[in-house]
Amino acid sequence: MRALHGGEAYGIRMKRVSRLTWGGFVCLLLVACAEPPTAQAELVFGTICSINLYEQGSPKIYETLFSRLREIDLTMSATKADTAVDRINQNAGIRPVPVPPDLMEVLEQALTYAALSEGAFDPTVGPLVQCWAIGSENPRIPEALEIEESLSLIDWQDVVIDREAATVFLRRPGMALDLGAITKGYAADEMAELLQKAGITRAIIDLGGNIVAYGTKSQDEPWRIGIQDPLDSRGSYLGILTVRHKSVVTSGVYERYAEIDGKRYHHILSTQDGYPVSKGLLSVTIIADRSIEADALSTAAFALGYEKGRALVESMDHAEAIFVFEDKQIRGTSGALAWFTLKDPQFSLNP
Ligand code: ADP
Ligand code: MG
Repeated sequence: MRALHGGEAYGIRMKRVSRLTWGGFVCLLLVACAEPPTAQAELVFGTICSINLYEQGSPKIYETLFSRLREIDLTMSATKADTAVDRINQNAGIRPVPVPPDLMEVLEQALTYAALSEGAFDPTVGPLVQCWAIGSENPRIPEALEIEESLSLIDWQDVVIDREAATVFLRRPGMALDLGAITKGYAADEMAELLQKAGITRAIIDLGGNIVAYGTKSQDEPWRIGIQDPLDSRGSYLGILTVRHKSVVTSGVYERYAEIDGKRYHHILSTQDGYPVSKGLLSVTIIADRSIEADALSTAAFALGYEKGRALVESMDHAEAIFVFEDKQIRGTSGALAWFTLKDPQFSLNP
């Protein structure tokens, strides 16, 4: 993955971005910004996070926002050492681990979406993520036995939450949490909350493609968010969503993948067969009021496939979805299609 909007075009001031690994960057493209804004970008969650507060930005507010992002990463990362998630994983099958309230909240939400998706989305997918290592420097196709072992360790119902003691326990040794499919959504909601407290009225929060189009672009003008063409290079989009105060999140085959022996393996893994999910979809975009919901649902719907994924989204009150198929068909819920304009004639729109 790589950037869809360059720092220049949007006046993004790259700060502390020492390593521009484009893997895991923006899946959506913000289009048509009138004036060159000030913004800030940093590498957090292993991806580029940028926040654009336009004329309302200041070093102080940017520091408040980014220090909160770093704090969330240092609590919820499954790959960094000594995060709360890492401690839970190290103590799987051994003992419950005290966790801070924000992690408790994310985990409870993750378990809710695990139940709703009947385990297609599962925060205990860690062992499988580790053995494929997609997105790392050494991705590989695991042996059948490893896949089998990993699958046997995945079960969200073996996460024991003790709210009173504020602890989390993974019942079996070898189990591991991976909250990569939901953390950025939570973080984006946190950003929106901080902006609200600061009295900021418009912003684009883009955490590696997990977008919150906060407020409206101007008094009467909505935001225009491009949906990446999953088959094309970064920066070309298949259509545009016109939204006000919404989160837009995409999960897809192009987000993060490894090429092994000429074949692509993407990073959303099937908790059924242990391989990258293959259900005829290239991407699923969710438009929702809360970004944590959009993030969890985009992964869940992608993992479930079109029919079950669509049914899940339609069962939710404030969520809409756009499904892009391998055969270049696009389908979506009625609310989503009302906001969507198709731009690329290679694709065709079906209700
Ligand atoms: P991104 O991280 O690019 O925004 P997603 O939100 O779809 O994309 O999350 C994908 C990440 O979630 C993977 O990199 C992995 O860490 C984790 N994951 C992979 N498969 C599953 C699954 N079936 N359920 C829950 N999390 C998953
Ligand atoms: Mg997700």
